Amino acid sequence: MNPDLAATADALDAADPLRAFRDLFVAAGTGLVYFDGNSLGRPLTSTAGRLERFVRDEWGGRLIRGWDESWMDLPFAIGDEIGRIALGAAPGQTVVGDSTTVLLYKLIRAALEAQMARDSARVEIVVGTDDFPTDRYVVEGIAAERGARVRWIDVDRAGGVTAEGVAAAVGETTAVVVVSHVAYRSGHLADAARITEIVHAAGALTVWDLSHSVGSVPIHADTWRFDAAVGCTYKYLNGGPGSPAFAYVANRHHASLTQPVQGWMGAADVFAMGPEYRPADGMRRFLSGTPPILGMLAIEDTLALIDDAGMPAIREKSIELTTFALEVVVEELAPLGVEVASPIEAASRGGHVTLRHPLMRQVTAALWRRDVIPDYRDPDGLRIGLSPLSTSFAETLTGLLAVRDTLLRLIPAD
Ligand SMILES: *Cc1c(COP(=O)(O)O)cnc(C)c1O
Repeated sequence: MNPDLAATADALDAADPLRAFRDLFVAAGTGLVYFDGNSLGRPLTSTAGRLERFVRDEWGGRLIRGWDESWMDLPFAIGDEIGRIALGAAPGQTVVGDSTTVLLYKLIRAALEAQMARDSARVEIVVGTDDFPTDRYVVEGIAAERGARVRWIDVDRAGGVTAEGVAAAVGETTAVVVVSHVAYRSGHLADAARITEIVHAAGALTVWDLSHSVGSVPIHADTWRFDAAVGCTYKYLNGGPGSPAFAYVANRHHASLTQPVQGWMGAADVFAMGPEYRPADGMRRFLSGTPPILGMLAIEDTLALIDDAGMPAIREKSIELTTFALEVVVEELAPLGVEVASPIEAASRGGHVTLRHPLMRQVTAALWRRDVIPDYRDPDGLRIGLSPLSTSFAETLTGLLAVRDTLLRLIPAD
């Protein structure tokens, strides 16, 4: 190995203003290398105490009174905190609710419905061909259900949806445009401000998927004039497996958007138990059933940390981590035939990079057995997720050298 890389990693760690945060995560000091914080974030040690106190004091002690005392408001309170700390959203526009998939369904349907009612020619939902499967499936399902059409944007797997691609796809028949802010495969970072402007100029609405950007890339939902957005909380927000997603809907759309899963928790007067559904004002109308309180507790610990660190510092470290990773790839992995399938330019990149090699499936399996944990995406991609609050530069180097050593063992000698 080039000895400079180890020295560089150590120097970057020593100069890292966020390095102390790493010690707040469970088992952070062990030799395990975690490259999948973009898929399931690590838990904070403080979360164990929070969950234990909740079971003992709130659930166990307050029982059903907890709903009146605080739980009814929790989806909105935590939503507002996500909005303030990570989305650039004023209060009253973000709520924590169902899974990302379900919230995507509700918001895309609501937006399509409003557009079709306003102008019957607007029957197209625009989405990228390489967007995350759930986003594509939901769009196709809604189109079939409502007699709408899907307009596909052809996307390069090593890139993502661009402003030019959107400009070419939108027009007088466009109802809604669905885009992932950071592409799940390549890590491509979309120009959200410009794309939103282009979509609005065409008379359409945006539904942003922030799953791979929230907590990693600064977002300015209000300034960028997002219409609606959905995002995951178990990735960079470390909410834990299956923690509920959040929905953002800009104030100006609250009165005109109604979602299709009419349930009592989204009704105007939840406890009136009235004969018919009338949607609540504000973000409550995007809820359907009883919110998953237990699942949203852990998010609060990471939000406090992000608030403390600040999104600009987190983004700065994220860029340094991916830049360093690509440097190691060039020196140590490219000679073995590994290719980078992510944007080379830092400004177009989110918090993860994807490396390609025909043997990556086997490499991933071998690495998991030795506590080096990236993830694998068909057909030949190894994703290296670098979570700025919990990943160090030395860990990044150790993990990438393990990829190299594993590849060396698997490549047949000739
Ligand atoms: C992670 C992710 C999801 C996950 O959806 P779930 O309903 O939580 O399974 C959806 N879309 C994108 C773009 C994601 O990255």
